Amino acid sequence: MNAVLQEEKPSKIGCNVDFQADGVQHGHLTIPYSRNESPWGSLLMPISVFKNGAGPTVLFTGGNHGDEYEGPVALMKLIRSLDVSRIRGRVIVIPALNYPAVKAGTRLSPIDGRNMNRVFPGKRDGSITEMIADYVYRYLLPLADVVVDIHSGGKVMTFAPTSVIHRLPERTLMAKTVAGARAFGAPYALVLEELDAAGMLDTAVEEAGKVFISTELGGAGTTTVRTVAIAERGVHNVLVHFGVLEAEPLPAEQSRFLETPDGAFVVAPQSGIYEIAAEPGSTIRAGEPVGYIHDIDDPTRPALVCCARIDGLVIHRHVAGLVNRGDCLAVVAVDCEVG
Ligand code: CA
Repeated sequence: MNAVLQEEKPSKIGCNVDFQADGVQHGHLTIPYSRNESPWGSLLMPISVFKNGAGPTVLFTGGNHGDEYEGPVALMKLIRSLDVSRIRGRVIVIPALNYPAVKAGTRLSPIDGRNMNRVFPGKRDGSITEMIADYVYRYLLPLADVVVDIHSGGKVMTFAPTSVIHRLPERTLMAKTVAGARAFGAPYALVLEELDAAGMLDTAVEEAGKVFISTELGGAGTTTVRTVAIAERGVHNVLVHFGVLEAEPLPAEQSRFLETPDGAFVVAPQSGIYEIAAEPGSTIRAGEPVGYIHDIDDPTRPALVCCARIDGLVIHRHVAGLVNRGDCLAVVAVDCEVG
C-alpha cells in the first residue's frame, strides 16, 4: 500500500473514517467552505469504508457529474446492504463525488463552475472541486487497486447502457480492465477515445497503473428501472470478480465491445429544435439520419437532416429538445476486438 505523497502539504480536507481499520464506517470528508451564510462552515461529503483483513481495494464513485443518477442510487444502496463479513479487502464508496453538483442537480459544481472530470489531479489550494480531486488523487487512489466511476449521460445526453474503458498501452492492465468491464456486465462496453482526456479521473487512475472502469448507463437527468438494475448488478459483479466479495455473480449480459472510430461523432451544424431519428441501441448506416434540426424562425424551410457518417450502432443521443450549433447529436460505435 502506498503512503500519501509525503513531500506535499496535507490536504485541507478532513476525513473522519480510518481507511486502515477493519469493520464498517460511514463518515464524511470535511471540505472547508467559508461563505456569507456560514463563515466557518464546511461541506460534509459522505464516504463509507468497509474493510475485512487483507485483500484488494475497490473505490466506487458516483456523482462525478451531478446530474447523473445511477451511480449515486446504486452506491447508496451498496452502502446500506454490503455485508462486511462477506468481503476480503476493502471497499470505499463515495456516492456523490462532486457533492455540491449532486446537491444542485447540475453537471458542474455550482460553487466554482468546475467539471470534476476535467480538474484531476486537482489542487490543494484550488477551488472546492479542485480540492476534492486533489484529495481523491493523493489520499484515495494510492489505496485503490480498482476504481469504478459510474457515469450516465446527464440532463442533455443519454446512452445505450455501456461500460467505458480506454485502450491502454500496457497489456496486462488492459487485460485486467477488459475483464473488469466484462464482469460489470452492461449490454455494451465502449473502448473510448476521449475528445479530451486531460484532467479526467480516468486518466489519473490509468496513469497510476490501476484498473479503471467507467460507465455511461443512461441519462436524460433521471433513472430508469433497467439502468439502475445494470448499475447495481455491475457493482456486485465487479466486487465478486476482483475477489473482494464472496458471493455468486448475478446473471449478466455478454457485453458487446464497441469503439468510436473517426466519423463516430455527429455534431450539430446549426441551432434549432431537435427531432430524433435514431434512438440509442439502434443500428444505422452512413448517410441515414440520426435527427433533424428545425428552424423555428422559418417554418417553411426544410429541416436540416443530420446523418451518421459511418455504419454502426447508435450509442448516444442528444436529449434536449433544443440543440445548439456544435452540440454532439449522436455517437455511432462499431464492434471492436479487445484481445
Ligand atoms: Ca458523465
